[in-house]
Amino acid sequence: MKILAVNCGSSSLKFKMYEMPEEKVLISGLFERIGEKMSSYTIKLDNDKYSKEIELPDHKVAFEILVDELKKNKIIKKLDEIKGIGHRIVQGGDYFDKTVIADDDAVTKISELATLAPLHNKAAVTGINAAKEVIPGALETVTFDTAFHQTIEPVNYMYAVPYEWYTKYKVRKYGAHGTSHKYIASRLNALLGRTNTKLITCHIGSGASVSAIKDGICMDTSMGLTPNAGLIMGTRCGDVDTSILTYMMQKEDISPKEMDNILNKKSGLLGISGVSNDSRDIEEGIQKGNERCVLAQKMYVQKIIDYIAMYYFEMGGVDAIAFSAGVGENSIRTRIDIMEGLSVLGIVPDYEANNCRGEEKLVTTTESKVPCYVIPTDEEIMIARDNYNLAK
Ligand code: ADP
Repeated sequence: MKILAVNCGSSSLKFKMYEMPEEKVLISGLFERIGEKMSSYTIKLDNDKYSKEIELPDHKVAFEILVDELKKNKIIKKLDEIKGIGHRIVQGGDYFDKTVIADDDAVTKISELATLAPLHNKAAVTGINAAKEVIPGALETVTFDTAFHQTIEPVNYMYAVPYEWYTKYKVRKYGAHGTSHKYIASRLNALLGRTNTKLITCHIGSGASVSAIKDGICMDTSMGLTPNAGLIMGTRCGDVDTSILTYMMQKEDISPKEMDNILNKKSGLLGISGVSNDSRDIEEGIQKGNERCVLAQKMYVQKIIDYIAMYYFEMGGVDAIAFSAGVGENSIRTRIDIMEGLSVLGIVPDYEANNCRGEEKLVTTTESKVPCYVIPTDEEIMIARDNYNLAK
């Protein structure tokens, strides 16, 4: 059965097609700058990769070209061979604790939740509607970044602000990256050979979050009402003293919208270093003796250690820790900095094993009291599995 996993951004469409249940990737690709001048797309096959520049006025045209490419590359002969389309949705609020069929009720709720994730949820609805028009016979499902975190208890999801903000406006922690944390946890459990485990999963890419997962159930996560909470990220500040915001808004006459932009786009590694939001550039800056890059890296690592420590206590211990996403899978230095900072837990890095990128691997020695693993994340396969289970 052929299933598409898609992720629609406001000007992009990323896809991967699987043969299920074998979980074989048949083709993948990315449409970029949809609705802008100079749009293009890239297709990746087993032994081939090519890009084309083409006008993409909207997501519907992108889906039409996608179908053409599937036929041209002999992945499908007829449209009705595509049995399912699983969409990634950023914000599911407290409506969704699992993947569901994208019926009218679900789409209405996703649109309603756009106030919490304006760019993402709106784009996703555009994608769902476009896919329905172009591939009407496929079962569309929606998989939410927030769903895995719906098991978090009020003690961890409530904020100490007026309670009415919660009852009237649903102000609470929802988290994000849930599909990734769920995947990483399932891989860790497979590696440990049991499911009664206490796990800490670090999804650290340009967006970053840590989760505490006990017996497969999410207990806590570092992102909040929006993704701008918890860890220091590429351009997001994560946790800060909220009084800084009102103080600076008065000092420099900054509007709420501008402040939101500064905290999401001009802060984090970029804000501290003044150099870049990319860990590779920060590491290069450190090599060159740039003091602000040194500080940015120390603060970045410290925040991750703080959250791991917090979740260690929340769960009463930890059986394994995982590093994932762009930084977690690739930054040899950041993993070492984190593991060395956790020596109080008896963590002993294996420097040789850690000298790796993008592969599933144990990166601590046999003496380490807590094993640490690199686990490349795979959100698409989770979306495809959920779709397959509803479509079959
Ligand atoms: P996104 O949240 O956009 O999915 P990714 O998980 O792809 O982000 O992470 C992208 C980030 O990963 C980059 O901004 C960079 O900081 C980091 N990264 C990628 N490759 C490396 C590398 N070789 N060394 C250090 N950091 C890396």
